[in-house]
Amino acid sequence: PEAFLSVRDLRVAFSTEDGVVRAVDGLSFDIERGKTLGIVGESGSGKSVTNLTVLGLHNRKTTDIQGEIILDGQELTTASEKEMEKIRGNKAAMIFQDPLTALSPYYTVGRQLSEPFMKHRGASKKEAKDRAIEMLAKVGIPQPQTRFDDYPHQFSGGMRQRAMIAMSLMCDPELLIADEPTTALDVTVQAQILDLLRDLQQEFGSAIIFITHDLGVIANMADDLLVMYAGRAVERGSVREVLSEPKHPYTWGLLSSMPRLGGDTSEALVPIPGTPPSLLNPPTGCRFHPRCRFRDEVPGDLCSTERPLLADGRAAACHLTGEQKQSIFIDQIKPR
Ligand code: SF4
Ligand code: MG
Repeated sequence: PEAFLSVRDLRVAFSTEDGVVRAVDGLSFDIERGKTLGIVGESGSGKSVTNLTVLGLHNRKTTDIQGEIILDGQELTTASEKEMEKIRGNKAAMIFQDPLTALSPYYTVGRQLSEPFMKHRGASKKEAKDRAIEMLAKVGIPQPQTRFDDYPHQFSGGMRQRAMIAMSLMCDPELLIADEPTTALDVTVQAQILDLLRDLQQEFGSAIIFITHDLGVIANMADDLLVMYAGRAVERGSVREVLSEPKHPYTWGLLSSMPRLGGDTSEALVPIPGTPPSLLNPPTGCRFHPRCRFRDEVPGDLCSTERPLLADGRAAACHLTGEQKQSIFIDQIKPR
């Protein structure tokens, strides 16, 4: 099947007072309609920057973008702001971590849902209102007719998150990008929102990019998984493959630093030593090498001098041989 979104060798660099930050450095991935791609990584891994770039929400003055972003046949890296405005909230929409990023405090929820629908679909005020009420009901807002004229501050946190999801779905986006959509919510509301996203995907067949640092959430949401570290993808595969037989030392670290799914929470968690590098001056070779306890298994100084490439399909960007990856995983990582 053809990819609905295809990102090829994407490089995103932006200038700051301190220098040029190479936030994304040669990233490729594909996503099909109706599928969910999970992207995991610590903050500063480039996952959010990647998705802001896909929607053209980066600062055009300070950002340099190389590579290709092809959405449904259209190249977005060279699209004008006007062209991006036609895509955003229409063909592609974003659900932010904080609903207040997307919802203005100054306008009613109903108006904020209706306006993009009128603009993108040429709908009348009445049609847009009907649609907004329908979508508010769909995301589980009780009595949507009466809530239509409320302001965001009259909604609870969970309701605001739902309203924002309703807003992102107004125009049936074919691509939905959810950036840590539930981290700010309590566990019950979080579960409800995730159920809702799954149902909506069933109904609309959207492609979803789900960004999170929470592998437990990813396990339940995504079909495929991309693990990012310091602006690069280090591992990819189906969720099942990556979580049951991870091949990259960074993924091993991520998995050991989270409570095992359904496991004993008293189990000792092993955090990855060190911190993610500054992308002003990232490490040479494998960007994970300063934190990697397996680099001595690789002959010479390959880890610190040569960038390990990520092959297509099920792959990990690491100089360890396939055999080494397998035996280290089985002997040292798995039997926690
Ligand atoms: Fe560790 Fe070397 Fe593999 Fe990087 S390439 S993850 S430093 S073993
Ligand atoms: Mg982020």
